[in-house]
Amino acid sequence: MTSPRFDRTHTDDLMEFVAVSPSPYHAAANVAARLDAAGFLRLAETAAWDDGVGGRYVLRGGAIVAWFVPEGAEATRGFRILGAHTDSPTLRVKPNPDTGAAGWRQIAVELYGGTLLNSWLDRDLGLSGRIVLRDGSEHLVFVDRPLLRVPQLAIHLDRQVNEAGLQLDKQQHMTPIWGLGKVDEGALIRFVAEEVGVDAAQVAGWDLMVHDVQRPAYLGRDGELLASARLDNLLSVHAGLAALLAAAHDGVPHIPVFGAFDHEETGSESTTGAAGPLLETVLTRIVSSRGGSLDERARAFADSFHLSSDVGHAVHPNYVGRHEPGHHPVPNGGPILKVNTNQRYATDARGRAVWAAACERAGVPWQTFVGINSMGCGTTIGPITAARLGIETVDVGVACLSMHSSRELCGAEDPHLLASAAAAFLES
Ligand code: ZN
Repeated sequence: MTSPRFDRTHTDDLMEFVAVSPSPYHAAANVAARLDAAGFLRLAETAAWDDGVGGRYVLRGGAIVAWFVPEGAEATRGFRILGAHTDSPTLRVKPNPDTGAAGWRQIAVELYGGTLLNSWLDRDLGLSGRIVLRDGSEHLVFVDRPLLRVPQLAIHLDRQVNEAGLQLDKQQHMTPIWGLGKVDEGALIRFVAEEVGVDAAQVAGWDLMVHDVQRPAYLGRDGELLASARLDNLLSVHAGLAALLAAAHDGVPHIPVFGAFDHEETGSESTTGAAGPLLETVLTRIVSSRGGSLDERARAFADSFHLSSDVGHAVHPNYVGRHEPGHHPVPNGGPILKVNTNQRYATDARGRAVWAAACERAGVPWQTFVGINSMGCGTTIGPITAARLGIETVDVGVACLSMHSSRELCGAEDPHLLASAAAAFLES
């Protein structure tokens, strides 16, 4: 049975958020819409920023940074930052998308991020992202019905597949089909333009990707698990937003900030990635718009802390030996603190203390993840922002199975426990 602390409302809402956020652009736009509803004001990066107190945010492509300045906050007031990322491994449409072979119409795709290729086989895929018109206007694209499929080769034509393992050539074998007939140049963009309701001749650029149209679902005998696409890392984006909204009130001792960045799966180095200047610029402008100097900015940064949240590995029952034997995070055991002394995670003793205190205040149990020495360790935005801003950082998240699969799995209680701990952190 699921425990009484299980807040199904939060997980239900996460499932809806993931379902309507197939691309980073949708995720950022959906966060913005929820911030609008909560009374936050969107600031233009090209405009002068007011010195007003209250909730504000900046939206740039697939990234968003939101914050709340409490009444009376002086220029040296430090930040409590919750960081996450909006992107997930997927297949993305190439510049000349229309291709095909043997009477099939296909779409040429690039592999985005460290995707588990096999997880995209034989799934009903939709299409999403954005197009930009000649006049510079941007339109979101969301075709949420079975449109594409990467068909696996039948076992009769690949007799050794179960013994030798599935071998997928990244260029040859991952091209989705989307119909029958001769290759029709321009067909995909004409189709997308029609879906969006614009003139195809006006489409000047596109960032398009596929997604599994299957909705998130509770799984398991007692429904204590959550099966879903993009838990990495929309789970943290959703939790971070909930935490910011909970912490956005006068009397909060620091300035709570929520940042969700794009391009983590490819190393974060972009104008909207965590390695870019977006967060630093926003934090600097929050200080300077209240009359703060460079010296006061340095004082505010020195009084700041960053909680970087991303998924981690739960112990896999069929591969227990791949996990560090003394550290076995389990689903619904609470969010995880992620440790790697080689700085793949930014956590240190001070960070651990901050995290433990936040969890204690929230009444949230937590676990520790550390990798096994015989294997490399993943990383996330924590070490990147720590190095860039010099702000103390701790890496946390939720333990899951099947990370980077098109459909991942985690405990259904953990998202709410993470959000509760994150809110306690932002309010500290
Ligand atoms: Zn991630």
